[in-house]
Parts: sequence; C-alpha cells; structure tokens
Amino acid sequence: MTPQTDPQAGAAVKAADRAHVFHSWSAQELIDPLPVAGAEGSYFWDYDGNRYLDFTSGLVFTNIGYQHPKVVAAIQEQAATLTTFAPAFAVEARSEAARLIAQRTPGDLDKIFFTNGGADAVEHAVRMARIHTGRPKVLSAYRSYHGGTQQAVNITGDPRRWPSDSGAAGVVHFWAPFLYRSRFYAETEQQECERALEHLETTIAFEGPGTIAAIILETIPGTAGIMVPPRGYLAGVRDLCDKYGIVFVLDEVMAGFGRTGEWFAADLFEVTPDLMTFAKGVNSGYVPLGGVAISGKIAETFGKRAYPGGLTYSGHPLACAAAVATLQVMAEEGVVANAAVVGAQVIEPGLRDLAERHPSVGDVRGVGMFWALELVKNRETREPLVPYNAAGEANAPMAAFGAAAKANGLWPFINMNRTHVVPPCNITEAEAKEGLAALDAALSVADEYT
Ligand code: PMP
Repeated sequence: MTPQTDPQAGAAVKAADRAHVFHSWSAQELIDPLPVAGAEGSYFWDYDGNRYLDFTSGLVFTNIGYQHPKVVAAIQEQAATLTTFAPAFAVEARSEAARLIAQRTPGDLDKIFFTNGGADAVEHAVRMARIHTGRPKVLSAYRSYHGGTQQAVNITGDPRRWPSDSGAAGVVHFWAPFLYRSRFYAETEQQECERALEHLETTIAFEGPGTIAAIILETIPGTAGIMVPPRGYLAGVRDLCDKYGIVFVLDEVMAGFGRTGEWFAADLFEVTPDLMTFAKGVNSGYVPLGGVAISGKIAETFGKRAYPGGLTYSGHPLACAAAVATLQVMAEEGVVANAAVVGAQVIEPGLRDLAERHPSVGDVRGVGMFWALELVKNRETREPLVPYNAAGEANAPMAAFGAAAKANGLWPFINMNRTHVVPPCNITEAEAKEGLAALDAALSVADEYT
C-alpha cells in the first residue's frame, strides 16, 4: 500500500481524461477530476503521493473496501475459466450468486433477475409491477434517487431529474417522512409517520387505486440525505399496498448489503417488499452488477408467460463470481456486524460530538455506515449552509469544507448542504476515528459561514 509518486504519469492520465472522457452529471469544462494511481482497503492515492481515507466508498459501493484479495482472486479465476456467457444458460457463478443473494434477502424474495446496475434494476422492477398488476402508474417520493436511465430518472425525486424529466405519464411523486424538514408540521416521529401515511393514502385515493402498479421507496433514502424513516412508516406503506393491491418495491441499491449494519435495511424495519432492487454492495462494485429480488407472487406471473425484458450481460459470470466472493468475505469477516458495531460505537457518538461543537451542523442522522450531517447557516432557522441545488459561487461554503477535508487526508461525500459519512462497512475503529478527526478540522471551516 505504498503510494507511488509519479506526477508526470498523473498529468498524462488527466490530459487524456480531459481530452476524451465525457463525465457524468458534470459541466465538462468546469471539472477537475483527480487522477487516481491506486487504492487498497479504505484508502486511495493519487500520483503525487497524496493518500485519502475514502468516506464515500466510491459512490457508496465499496462495502468491503478496495482490492480485497479474495474477490480479486475470484475474478481472476473466473476470467481464466469462463469469462463470459450468454444469459439463457445455467452458469455456476450466476446460479451460485443468485442462491447466496436469495439466502440473504427477506421473506420469499427468492428469485433473482440480474441487471448491470441499479437504474436498470429499477426499470425492470417497475416493468414487472406494471405487467403483474395490469396498471400503469408508479408512485415515488420527492427527495429520492432511483437512477439515471430514462424511467428511473423520471421516478427519481431529486433535482437531477429536472433537465431530463419527460413528464412521463404514470409517475406521481409524494412526500415521504423527514422530521427535520417536515412537510406535515409534525413535531414528533410518530406524528410525522402518521401524517406521511395519511398523505400517501390520500394520494392513492386521488390518483385512483386501480391505476397504481407500484409504490417505490428507498428503504432509507440515500443520495437525497439519508433520512431514516420513523418506525412504523414502511410497515404502514406495506399495509397500504396490500389494501389496494399495489406492488411494494424497496430500492436497496445503496442501503443493501451491510450498509446499515443489517444485510438489508428492510431487516431493520422488519418489512418484506414484493420486489427489491439491489446493486453496488452486492459485489462492492468490482464488476458492474445489479438486480431485482422477486417474491413468489410476482415470479408466478411469469411462470407460464414470458417476462418481456432482458439484457445482454444479465448475470455476467465475472460480476457474479465477484458477488459470490464478496458475499463469502462479508460472512467470514463479519462485515455486516462491523458496520453495526463501529457505526454505533464510533461513528454515531463521534458525529454527535462534532454536532455539539460545530454550529454549522444542523442535523445528524443515520445508522450503521450510513450517516449524513446536514450543514446549516443557522441552527434555529435551519437555513441550509448553501441554497438548494447551489452551483458555482453559491456553493463556496461546501467547496471550502470539501477542500479542508481533503487537505486533512479525507475524501468526503458532499451533496448540496450535506456531507454523508459512508465509509466501507469493514472500516476499522482506528480508521473511523482518523476520518472523524479530519471532519472536525473541515467543519471548523464550514463554521466560518454560519
Ligand atoms: N437506486 C438507488 C437507491 C441508488 O442509490 C442508485 C445509485 N446511486 C441507483 C438506484 C442507480 O444505480 P446505478 O447508478 O448503478 O444505475
């Protein structure tokens, strides 16, 4: 794990990148991507010898950290034996990955449809629900992220959908609970829960229950701010779905596979959806993989009738071999329990201590290795440190916060006025403490803008 120093090589990588790589979610002339020379465990480094503790897990996917030797070896072995094969065949890596995933998913989510990532998993879950119910509409939450493909971005509730939202018929947004910025004038978790459920049932009534195929929710909304729902909310949504014959889809693309200190966030709330999407942590993103875990009831719909959808690389053997090895590593090394324990004993008390000492921290929320600090100008009014969807100069406070974190060896996850604390689920206690110390320094910079 010795960062090599080779600034010239770094400059060449960056020059080629700037000449030819068109980056996602970016203004191409305004970005400055860091050339990465290598990564291992919870760290990565650049060509100038700077090493960073990764509190982002990539895009919240390296749940077992970078370059785990057992997963790297499994990918190499699969490449040597059977690198690729078409989806219509039974292939050992694929069937074993499906078996291991089904073993971990809640309830009777026992059939696995593989995709290449999260967005296409959402696309397929919605298609399954529409065909299963014969109904057109999908209800999803504001303050959600479900992917960048066309239907998934329509379903998404955050501002990234605005430029490409086709206003597609059939997608209706509602407000999910979020007490810190309650839409329901609630003062307690219980009020927030009851009023959010009442709002959802009213939305169902006005849209027409017979027109709604699915309600899709992130079990814990991630990208939009890690808003842990009040106890009882998801069970209440489950009941509404049963009452109106609506398919309940939980999107566990970010929250799944250990992130919350449980195998799935659904386990925290003891709910079982009809369909559950996953990706990211399933193989720590070593090779692109996602999927939909399907309940018996919905699988039955496609028993004698063809499922009209598929992907060339569905269940790619390399990706599936990486999943098998990842799931084995997670079990052998107690990665899920580590996320729960280090989360509860180090990250949570550490973040609460930072909140007490830094006036810029308005709210701390999360569970396991899935936390957000919401930064504000004023704790009383809760005015965000930067305006909603801020860009350029308007975003200067968050940019200064980010630069300070990096100067202290921490790569932070920043979204709007929040920093998310989402390190690998197998992070050590010492690494977690190192990251908290860097956050402490960076928050002192954010405090200057309060
Ligand atoms: N759903 C959720 C909850 C996500 O967090 C993401 C990705 N951040 C997606 C779907 C889309 O996944 P992908 O980028 O792999 O398509």
